[in-house]
Amino acid sequence: MELMLKLKLFEPRKGKKMLIEETIRQFKECVNNWIKALHELGEKPSRTKVHRYAYKKLREKYPQLHTDVLQEAMDLAIEIYRTWLNNPNKGEKLPKFDSDCIYFEGRCVKFDRYFINLPLAGKRVWLPMHVQARFKRYLQYKHGRVILKKVKNEYYIYVSVNVPEPEPYEPRGWFGVDIGIRHIIVVSDAEGRVNWFLNDAIGWKKNMECRIAGLQRLNDKKVKKGVWRVLKRLSGKVRNKQKYINHVIAKQLVLMAKMWRYGIAIENLKGLRRGKVGKRHRKRLHKWAYRDLINKIVYKAKLHGVPVVFVNPKGTSRTCSRCGEKGRIKDRMFICKKCGLKLDRDLNASRNIALRAPPPP
Ligand SMILES: [Zn+2]
Repeated sequence: MELMLKLKLFEPRKGKKMLIEETIRQFKECVNNWIKALHELGEKPSRTKVHRYAYKKLREKYPQLHTDVLQEAMDLAIEIYRTWLNNPNKGEKLPKFDSDCIYFEGRCVKFDRYFINLPLAGKRVWLPMHVQARFKRYLQYKHGRVILKKVKNEYYIYVSVNVPEPEPYEPRGWFGVDIGIRHIIVVSDAEGRVNWFLNDAIGWKKNMECRIAGLQRLNDKKVKKGVWRVLKRLSGKVRNKQKYINHVIAKQLVLMAKMWRYGIAIENLKGLRRGKVGKRHRKRLHKWAYRDLINKIVYKAKLHGVPVVFVNPKGTSRTCSRCGEKGRIKDRMFICKKCGLKLDRDLNASRNIALRAPPPP
């Protein structure tokens, strides 16, 4: 599985910083020169053609750039040029590459624990970086392209690593995951031994959104200056906190499932979009960044070998999880007339989801 790691460089010393800055400048120029060469060649030039046409010239012009970096610059230029060619509203002016970054082909970069080795301006340079504990083990695997990027005077390394996936185990049972109303998710297994309510940040989000809506009204009326800045900050905060909470929830869920050797059954959200399921279901989805949460659960489960299935959620909230009869909902409780089951409605739904997963062998 491809994983993208983002690592921050420690503030480099003056000399090394100059090397980085110089390489960034040359890389930018070089990409733009490749774009120019592509344009000179005319309609839809191929990789080989443009290489033959301009490589030698650019090699001489930028003797300090590593061969692989020069190639990466070409690939990037081709990508930019093609997008521009396909844009029906393009003007006369050629596209200009203006990002503070350098692309490195994977094989010209080395990692050693907390250090990265890069070819910069004709030299090989070791640079120390912050490596979060959870990223440490990934760096031992084979890595692909590395990008050095400058953001607000700080340098970041983006590296894609190829992490081997363990074969998913045979689950002994399933955790049903229901998208709750007051809780982000409610987890239960078919027998009701697990009853988890994770967690109540939905209320927090609602609160923040009320504040944002209030500010939005202020902003529309233009009575106060600088409201938009607060707005921007708050919505960024909501987004980031959702992502972080999703990360925590997904981790808890996956590790718990692994400990029990259980699989994870989630309701299939794809159907919801097409309006196959009721309004109530669709409405719940706007309360939280669920797509992000489900993506996180799926990828963390893959990393740990936990099996995941998607089940059809139709009717899961109305059906009795003990006898399968239709029941009714009153005061957030599910009540079954036939067998007398009285249970929290979200718990009942999550048990139904667990029941719909394939039975263990
Ligand atoms: Zn019942």
